[in-house]
Amino acid sequence: MTDFQGKSVLVLGGSRGIGAAIVRRFASDGAKVVFTYNGSREAAEQLAAETGSSAVPTDSSDRDAVIARVRDSGPLDILVVNAGFALFGDALDLDPDEVDRLIRVNVTAPYHASVEAARQMPEGGRIIVIGSVNGDRMPLPGMASYALSKSALQGMARGLARDFGPRGITINIVQPGPIDTDANPEDGPMRDLMHSFMAIKRHGRPEEVAGMVAWLAGPEAGFVTGAMHTIDGAFGA
Ligand code: NDP
Repeated sequence: MTDFQGKSVLVLGGSRGIGAAIVRRFASDGAKVVFTYNGSREAAEQLAAETGSSAVPTDSSDRDAVIARVRDSGPLDILVVNAGFALFGDALDLDPDEVDRLIRVNVTAPYHASVEAARQMPEGGRIIVIGSVNGDRMPLPGMASYALSKSALQGMARGLARDFGPRGITINIVQPGPIDTDANPEDGPMRDLMHSFMAIKRHGRPEEVAGMVAWLAGPEAGFVTGAMHTIDGAFGA
């Protein structure tokens, strides 16, 4: 447990999976948490009631809505950008509009949310974006757009760390490997193939990712910025 008493936290994409675990972690550690959702209103409202946090609708594919949400949240101590999704299929067959939507959610939103948050963020502020080990390693066909989006976050973090560092604001990417969520259930058809790449042959738990996020957001991580933090059972090793 880290003491986040009185800290203001915004989680973009917090209704389910890894995002929900991050909401639970910050709320139980004392922070004032607001999180966004898009499609899962019922789950969002349940989580808000369970944790004493606030759920607000914001579609991360809408750049201006994301910017407005961050701006209207006031000075944030911690921003976590978790919303993201993958497309599966031959690059020659995928709908180009869907690929562009993926880039808006997975890349455009994290960039503009980070910049907007930094405008009002106090010294000591923390920005954490959920990337993927697929930003480093893509051992499967059919996921090039996802790999592209998660690699883009690496350059973003390196660059924005330079811009924000003089103000004492850090920005880091957390790169999970397979984590047991709706998007990648441990009992899904890809399980054995994914585990074959790993040293620890199981899916990670959303709470394990939330623990890494909490450390990066806490007082011990003030010298950590512009860096990628992989949590993947050695999927990418
Ligand atoms: P889930 O599909 O289980 O949950 C996705 C979350 O993101 C939901 O809360 C969803 O909200 C939100 N979200 C998705 N699209 C939007 C949108 N347009 N606007 C607002 N919110 C949105 O995914 P995971 O928990 O598995 O993944 C979370 C993050 O972790 C993603 O960035 C993913 O790429 C990354 N990741 C996941 C891995 C895994 O194995 N699970 C591995 C590596 C990285 P709602 O349902 O309300 O729309």
